[in-house]
Amino acid sequence: MRTNLVFFFQDESRNSVAALVAGIDYFCKRRDMDIVYARSERELMNSISPDSFNIIAFSVTTVNFHDIYNIFGSVKNKTGKSENVLYVAGGPHADGDPASLLAAGFDLVFSGYSEESFPLFLNRLSESGVSQRSAVIYSETSSVWQKRSFAKFADDYFPPLEIQRGCRYRCNYCQSCVRLGSPLYKSKEAVDEYIDDFHSKGFKRFSFVSPDAFDIRFETDKRSPENISSLFDYLQKRKIKLIEYGQFPSEIRPRGDTGSYFQVLAKYTKNRKIVIGAQSFLDERLRKIRRAHTSADIESTMDAAFRFGFYSIVDIIIGFPDETADERIYTLNRFRELNRKYPSRLHVHYFLPLAGTEMYYSNPSKLDIKTLRLLDKLERDGRAKGWWREGKKMTEKIILMRDRFSGK
Ligand code: SF4
Repeated sequence: MRTNLVFFFQDESRNSVAALVAGIDYFCKRRDMDIVYARSERELMNSISPDSFNIIAFSVTTVNFHDIYNIFGSVKNKTGKSENVLYVAGGPHADGDPASLLAAGFDLVFSGYSEESFPLFLNRLSESGVSQRSAVIYSETSSVWQKRSFAKFADDYFPPLEIQRGCRYRCNYCQSCVRLGSPLYKSKEAVDEYIDDFHSKGFKRFSFVSPDAFDIRFETDKRSPENISSLFDYLQKRKIKLIEYGQFPSEIRPRGDTGSYFQVLAKYTKNRKIVIGAQSFLDERLRKIRRAHTSADIESTMDAAFRFGFYSIVDIIIGFPDETADERIYTLNRFRELNRKYPSRLHVHYFLPLAGTEMYYSNPSKLDIKTLRLLDKLERDGRAKGWWREGKKMTEKIILMRDRFSGK
């Protein structure tokens, strides 16, 4: 029987799907398989083929678990207990809390980076004709990840180059270090493969995924601005003209030594807005969440960005579980002082209890009226953007799903 592999395709999971499609291209020997993409419940229903074995694949984040569950549940209800439909889930939520996805009704859960294990599962399925159900398949990053680009077209989408994977800092609210503690870096041959595909499609804007933008390796094994300049120099030699770096999804971690890095960015990149992951201006908070930098490092990074002509977008998080009103007001006012010196804007995010992190089972603190008024003022003055409102709704949904499916 032919296999019909259907990816539920959404903006927040498109990089993961593109990496899986690359893995299928590298490792999957099957020729009796169709790959289709569905962006809505209706498209999912329409993509199920009665003459094939259907694998419906969802990449689940802790944030979108609630919405995915509603769509998946509805489709599953309509297909009933069909033997020729298998519902699989992967993604960051599957790394942190795979059991909740089984409890929610998925047949198979892939936990960990699955660009190799998923294609190998497809190969085994082709040989045996049957799939296990109610199981978690644990995987690690493919040993091939550093040598190949793992970037292929998925539903007309081509992902940024994932130049770095994993993070050496273990901030206790962050999911990036759940899958992989020590970072890995793409090799030159992988970068070359990516560039070849990039050029063949006529793209112009070259961007990256990197959890810690200034910590990449290309020439040497040590963190240095030369690693970034040699990478960008190499890209230019290979006729890449429009390089974007230091903004989502390759934000900058604050440090005291960023001047020489911004000098490189000023020479090679087109973007003049960069994102600094500050999270708080209170040293005690930074210590508690294990950021491994200080408030002085944030100021030093904003200062260096300014000296080299960059506008800083400064990310902070409010609503940490044990946070006080005084702490919030301090952080917002400290930004106001720096904002007078450096061209900048504050991006205010809300605490999200993400699966697999130490803070998964913590709840946010309640925002006080003084903070809300100050946030309003900063937004009215154009000094801040309030992503925290969306974050608050996301956290409500996360807690709903956590209480229902995570067994605590
Ligand atoms: S928040 Fe940033 S620095 Fe901290 S673990 Fe996550 S990716 Fe690393």
